[in-house]
Amino acid sequence: MSMKPKYPVVSRRDFFKRGAVVGMGANTLAGQARAQARSGQIKFDHVANVVVVGAGASGLPAAIMACDQGASVIVIDANRDIGGHAIVSGGRIPLGGGTRLQKKYGIADSADQVYLDHTNFKNSEFRFGDRELIRMWANENAATFDFLLDNGVIFNDAPPTIVNGGSVPRLFVAKPYSDNLNETINGSPGSGLMRHLEASARKKGAAIFLRHKLTRILRENSKSGRVFGVTANLEGREVNIQARRGVVIATGGHTANVDFRRMFDPRLTEESRPQANLGPDRRPMASYWLWISALPSGRHRIRLTNAATP
Ligand SMILES: Cc1cc2nc3c(=O)[nH]c(=O)nc-3n(C[C@H](O)[C@H](O)[C@H](O)COP(=O)(O)OP(=O)(O)OC[C@H]3O[C@@H](n4cnc5c(N)ncnc54)[C@H](O)[C@@H]3O)c2cc1C
Repeated sequence: MSMKPKYPVVSRRDFFKRGAVVGMGANTLAGQARAQARSGQIKFDHVANVVVVGAGASGLPAAIMACDQGASVIVIDANRDIGGHAIVSGGRIPLGGGTRLQKKYGIADSADQVYLDHTNFKNSEFRFGDRELIRMWANENAATFDFLLDNGVIFNDAPPTIVNGGSVPRLFVAKPYSDNLNETINGSPGSGLMRHLEASARKKGAAIFLRHKLTRILRENSKSGRVFGVTANLEGREVNIQARRGVVIATGGHTANVDFRRMFDPRLTEESRPQANLGPDRRPMASYWLWISALPSGRHRIRLTNAATP
């Protein structure tokens, strides 16, 4: 099986390739041995290389990329259908940098221009943005948009428009999936995004388990050490799923969690209002904390804990 990624994936390549949820350091082997000892005591109902939690705008692309890199994938979602907030969203995709569709309409754009537009001091929304993150995002704009095209998303056949006060037209809007409200939920363009990603994920081999609500991340120790799977609640029953290589938490809503977001940017106090990013029941999510910190080697370390937020 080919493990070569088609798209630039920063350090996620290592994540899927080597199993990097926790302990990607000098003690990885020792950690694996201990994790195996502990995971041996658990009866697993399912097993996959990668377990993705949340079948929304983040989770399904993560699942597709893991499949693309040869991993077996299980996606779980608490809801009765895939899509999260994204399926009822406006399906407006403000990505540029020279996408295939921009080129089709004769629009010249570049990653540098995306970066400049999103760090412009005249734009009050962006002037305080984290330069490093915006640079990384700008670099991946075009590849991310083309990833959507490659995975079946269809956009309205109309030239893009200006978005976010930028200098170049970048905004394309997905075409609603169908006229059937059972498929689109509310007829929103977001359905055109999520149903095609769902189809692609399934076609590439991802198994999607609905009504599986994450209740626990299985770790070596109660709040530390290597992650080796998750426990989900399926109609009152506990289901244990082993993840041989990694767990991706994509449950959304984290920007509404003040404590969580302030770990990444202490300036984002209660006064900052996130847009449309509450979890199920319209509550801030992220009771499953995701820590990402740069390793000296330039790789990223990803650690997960299941510490509940206050
Ligand atoms: C009305 C509306 C319009 C929007 N319009 C746009 C737009 O036009 N363009 C744009 O870029 N953005 C738009 N957004 C924002 C966009 O939808 C979100 O930023 C995006 O969906 C976030 O993706 P996500 O994967 O983090 O979360 P979601 O897409 O919400 O996915 C999270 C998934 O995790 C599942 N989940 C949560 N907890 C658990 C658990 N414990 N166990 C298992 N599964 C769990 C949820 O059921 C859900 O399916 C809009 C949002 C809304 C609400």
